[in-house]
Amino acid sequence: MSGECDHCKRLFDDVEKHLEHISELSKEQVRALERHDLPWVDRMDQELEHAMGAKERSLGALKEHWRDHEH
Ligand SMILES: [Zn+2]
Repeated sequence: MSGECDHCKRLFDDVEKHLEHISELSKEQVRALERHDLPWVDRMDQELEHAMGAKERSLGALKEHWRDHEH
């Protein structure tokens, strides 16, 4: 990895934030499963889908920016 800039840090923080959110949603879904709260299980499924989409977009932006550093 050659060099970091402010944009790198901002994009990295973004990805990290999304991953932490996904981790929280996953734990919440486990708790919902434990108490057989199916509406909340489904709700967490939807939230996870959105969170995964947001994470993929921010990860894509980070990887693209890293590639820009390579030349
Ligand atoms: Zn950068």
